[in-house]
Amino acid sequence: MKDSARSLFLDANDVARLVAAIGAQAAIVQMAEQVRQDFLRWHAFDKSARLASHSARGVIELMPVSDGIQYAFKYVNGHPRNAQHGMPTVMACGLLAEVETGFPLMLADLTLATALRTAATSALAARAMARPGAHSMALIGNGAQAEFQVLAFHAMLGVREIVAYDIDPAATARLMRNLSGVPGLVIRPAASTEAALAGADIVSTVTADKTRATILTPAMVRPGMHLNAVGGDCPGKTELHPDILRHARIVVEYEPQTRIEGEIQQLAAESPVTELWQVLAGHAPGRATAEEVTVFDSVGFALEDYAALRWLYAAAHAHRVGRAVELVAMPPDPRNLYGWMMAQADGQAGLAPPRHVAVA
Ligand code: NAD
Repeated sequence: MKDSARSLFLDANDVARLVAAIGAQAAIVQMAEQVRQDFLRWHAFDKSARLASHSARGVIELMPVSDGIQYAFKYVNGHPRNAQHGMPTVMACGLLAEVETGFPLMLADLTLATALRTAATSALAARAMARPGAHSMALIGNGAQAEFQVLAFHAMLGVREIVAYDIDPAATARLMRNLSGVPGLVIRPAASTEAALAGADIVSTVTADKTRATILTPAMVRPGMHLNAVGGDCPGKTELHPDILRHARIVVEYEPQTRIEGEIQQLAAESPVTELWQVLAGHAPGRATAEEVTVFDSVGFALEDYAALRWLYAAAHAHRVGRAVELVAMPPDPRNLYGWMMAQADGQAGLAPPRHVAVA
């Protein structure tokens, strides 16, 4: 039997307190380093494209990965119209387990960690792909992910000017309010996507719409720009005009998944792309010339969530956040599950019968 039959449980409040204690920007930088190190171990991982269940209003996805020592998976949704019901577009939770026994080490909210790791990975890619000295970014789509993208580019690339545009002006106002205290950062609102792109070195598109949107057209894109395309992450859900992609250097996380979900779903299957690990390992350049347009076609890969879960696990222990729970049954005699159940039932003789919840 295991020394401890308990798993660590981090609910959304635990993760928020943990990240606030460390500082969101410091957390992103630490997570970026964890993601970088794990991408450099690319061949150690058993990888697969995520498993998606589509519906008219959104998608639910399962994202497993393992390095033979630890196994992780994330459950995540994408429902662009959830805000109408007062709910986030993206919600996630995930599990970290040890491969040797299959015991779950931790179950955690990953909604906030998804925003951190997505921003961290965007900035990691941009550090290798944007022109040296890039200091201004247009941010199109100012929803839940937006602040984290700004903080990542500010901390990791020294981006200090953000020009923000959202079809909902209240979203841009919220972004500016939330980040008003960040030293060295200037955020200006723009009246349109075109206006936001004028003068930008980097463009991040982080919109949510379950459609083939054309957030950026070729006419808006200038030589040398780096495009960080985050919001196109599902079949039939894209942000860039395909002609932008046809003339750009494209980096993806995991090609088999991005072919299905990324901007490159609009291109022929044999169109050239480079995987991020190759760029981070120095096997391929992130950019060849100052004039080249570069695109990080981000969809979110399980390895980033594995990195996020491991970072959370270590940080939670260091900061004593979360609680130990008996997530899985651990009978003293492992083959006497029935007897263990009866012993539990005896111990709870005085409890009210279980409440059954009707599901419509
Ligand atoms: P959100 O719903 O909180 O925010 C989306 C914002 O985009 C909203 O403010 C909305 O008004 C704005 N928007 C929609 N259409 C627009 C348009 N045409 N022009 C300008 N703004 C527009 O969603 P979120 O959690 O911030 O996620 C944003 C996107 O990023 C989603 O599509 C999500 O699926 C995706 N995402 C990708 C990854 C990844 O790893 N690549 C991770 C997380 C989220």
